Amino acid sequence: MKLSFFTLFPDIITAYFNVSIIGRALQNKLIDLECVNIRDFATNKYKKVDNTLIGGGAGMLLEPYVLHLALQHVKDSRIIFLSPCGAKFGYKDSKRLSKYQHLSFVCGRYEGFDERIIEMYATEIFSIGDFVLTGGELGALCMADSVLRHKNGVLGNVKSLEGESFESNLLESPNFAKSKAFDRTSNILPTSEFLKGNHAVIDKLRGNMARMKTQYFRPDLLSLA
Ligand code: SAM
Repeated sequence: MKLSFFTLFPDIITAYFNVSIIGRALQNKLIDLECVNIRDFATNKYKKVDNTLIGGGAGMLLEPYVLHLALQHVKDSRIIFLSPCGAKFGYKDSKRLSKYQHLSFVCGRYEGFDERIIEMYATEIFSIGDFVLTGGELGALCMADSVLRHKNGVLGNVKSLEGESFESNLLESPNFAKSKAFDRTSNILPTSEFLKGNHAVIDKLRGNMARMKTQYFRPDLLSLA
């Protein structure tokens, strides 16, 4: 899968792709990573990439002409703009987007985008939550990471996806590590059924606990089921 990031800060993206599971996927060539520095398309000698707002107002916008130059040659890719005004990104989106060969994330800065550039180029617009970040890079990384989890070979064990939170409008059931040291320290023992090793019983118990956990933390999810 090819992932392109249009950003003023490519280092934020490459740092994330250097480590852990995603770093290994990159090393194993499961990901073709492209970081496009928007500033490279600036046409003025100072490499300026912002501009003032028509009609006044505080702050600056990303210069739309520079973004246009950066995006005009993108072909056969979903072009995803990061914006607080977008639809809230969720599990189903990450699964759906994982089916595409090429995703391009456009990361805003300053006060964001000229509305016309969104109109011209966006195939999807996503927000990662009802709060405002200084730039789109963290949101783009969140989205890319969750998309990549659905790609074959990225997770060491595909079973990790089974029963994962949001897969079926439930949160994952509580998990307990085999740590005798922590059993002693916390003085709270995991339920004894877990220790007996009967997998049919454990699966049923996990299902019940997943529903109880969802009811407690995210009752809104149960109404979607
Ligand atoms: N002035 C904009 C507004 O009030 O909606 C906020 C601009 S924000 C400071 C700069 C950039 O950060 C945005 O263009 C977007 O790319 C990114 N960003 C900020 N919050 C975001 C969010 N909740 N979800 C996705 N991207 C976000």
